[in-house]
Amino acid sequence: MKELLYPPVLHWEVTPECNHNCIHCYNYWRKEPEKKNESIKDHLAIAKKIVERHPVSVVVTGGEPLIVFEAIKASLRLLRDNGISISVNTNAALVTEEIAEFMAKLKISAFVSLPCCEPSICDGITNVTNSLPKISKGIKLLLDAGVRVSVNMVVSKRNIDYIYDTAKFAKEVLGLESFFASRVSKPINSDTEFCKELLSKEDVQKLQKDLIRIAKDFNMRVATAGPMPVCSLTEDETFQKFAFTRNCTAGKISYSIDYSGNIKACAREVQIYGNILTDNFSDVWSRMKYWRDETFLPAECKECNVKQSCKGGCRLDAFPHTGTRNALDPMADVSNIPIKFVKKMDSKQMKMEQTFIVPKTIQFIQEGFGWRVNVGSKFMYITDELKQHLSNCTEFCINEFMQKFDVDYQTTNDLINLLVDNRIIFMRKE
Ligand code: SF4
Ligand code: SF4
Repeated sequence: MKELLYPPVLHWEVTPECNHNCIHCYNYWRKEPEKKNESIKDHLAIAKKIVERHPVSVVVTGGEPLIVFEAIKASLRLLRDNGISISVNTNAALVTEEIAEFMAKLKISAFVSLPCCEPSICDGITNVTNSLPKISKGIKLLLDAGVRVSVNMVVSKRNIDYIYDTAKFAKEVLGLESFFASRVSKPINSDTEFCKELLSKEDVQKLQKDLIRIAKDFNMRVATAGPMPVCSLTEDETFQKFAFTRNCTAGKISYSIDYSGNIKACAREVQIYGNILTDNFSDVWSRMKYWRDETFLPAECKECNVKQSCKGGCRLDAFPHTGTRNALDPMADVSNIPIKFVKKMDSKQMKMEQTFIVPKTIQFIQEGFGWRVNVGSKFMYITDELKQHLSNCTEFCINEFMQKFDVDYQTTNDLINLLVDNRIIFMRKE
């Protein structure tokens, strides 16, 4: 397959500074404080380069992005004016009515770090007094303004027993509909003292089961922010829920830019491959080829029957311990391979006369091997013929599609299911 010209997902670290000092963050372990950049011009210069790279979505991250909110406002506007979806990773403690309204107006979503529903544990993680009421207030301001909010609980030994209660708090006190719980990782600059915070394999299985219970009890959408090695899923129920839902995207479909424009494969990576302000992007992207081939796949994964989909879990989780990117994900359990579970696909059998709507907001970008199509932050890759079809009609039915492309029902049904699942087209309700 040809190299991507326009990787669809970009993480932009707009500042290294944060108002919290979470123990699981690299900031906590930093020896020297880093300076924030409050220059509107500098941020705009990077934003203009980002626009030239045509990402589908930009995840604005930090540090705490809202620390430099005034400096990045114009950049966020520029990204939105160019049809780019934006999500902000934030602790929400600095949210004001003005910020919430700005985000709502630009349809920017928020991914909020919610450490724990128990105030003393929350403060112990953030190292800020009264952090939970401040986070909660920020979330409520965002929701009141109409911002789409999801929360993520980074789970360590400190809060592992509070996953269920924190989700309950998110649902019943904050009014949220989705909940993420993600295992803690060792910050790259932390010392061995941090290891006592890390979860065991059994802890991660508890996390998986807690999320399933939360989904059932509170009718919440649940997920983890990072990938789970498929061999860490030891029961069919957790396998069906989490297997192949997330894998490592670094250097494959995503990359990261820091506040100086330096390009990395992942926000957690230390190696810099170039700079978006000064370097030719194709050259930078090709320097990241090792993230796309099997160079960083752990030796233990090479014979695994699901390696193409699992991709070996997180490529950087073991890095702070081993100094190598091809070390086995600490949560992987290779005694469970070959994987014995099979993912059940719930492909719907559509009626021949079922009509599908192509939304007006559909966007296309030409790649070397076809087209990328996206609606909002959802995207997929399609052929020239399908691109022509989707750009020339506002709605169509299965029957018409089969005749136009001279394909059988099953092929059409599978393709339409993919387009619907990826939210590129929508079923018209009868
Ligand atoms: S052995 Fe490697 S590729 Fe296979 S499931 Fe485990 S982590 Fe994933
Ligand atoms: S290296 Fe780990 S943190 Fe980075 S994108 Fe891959 S899975 Fe995510």
